[in-house]
Amino acid sequence: MTNDRTPHWLVQLRFILLCSPVGIVLALILAPWAIFVLPAFFGTLFVFWQASRLFTNGFVKLFDPEGHEAIRRSGGDPFYDSIGVPLNNDSEQVRVTGRKPNTNCPGCHQPVLVKANKPFRCPQCDAHWHENNWWRWTGSKWIVLKMGR
Ligand SMILES: [Zn+2]
Repeated sequence: MTNDRTPHWLVQLRFILLCSPVGIVLALILAPWAIFVLPAFFGTLFVFWQASRLFTNGFVKLFDPEGHEAIRRSGGDPFYDSIGVPLNNDSEQVRVTGRKPNTNCPGCHQPVLVKANKPFRCPQCDAHWHENNWWRWTGSKWIVLKMGR
């Protein structure tokens, strides 16, 4: 399945890198024990990260089993999808659908994701993507807003 989300390992790597100055300063202060301090520091970070993920996903699964199932079906992960900038820079749409917008709505110029032969209705301006063209209902008839994507 295609997925435009930031890969999980990259989000985790950014987290580790962001925290690493603290570990390095700690290792410099406690120089003689640096060989123990560094693995302990990064080990703690890793355990903390995994525990946070387990907790977040467990929490979502417990209180919103259907939401959890829907996120899973779209290829998401409640924990990684909820992480903000700068660790995860995905847009709201990528977080929810897993896909980047591939065009702009001709009605309101919002970036949207449309697929060939799959009808879509713009939530902003009610333009319709149908039979691979953009349409608008004028109140009495359908007019083509734009041919193709
Ligand atoms: Zn629109």
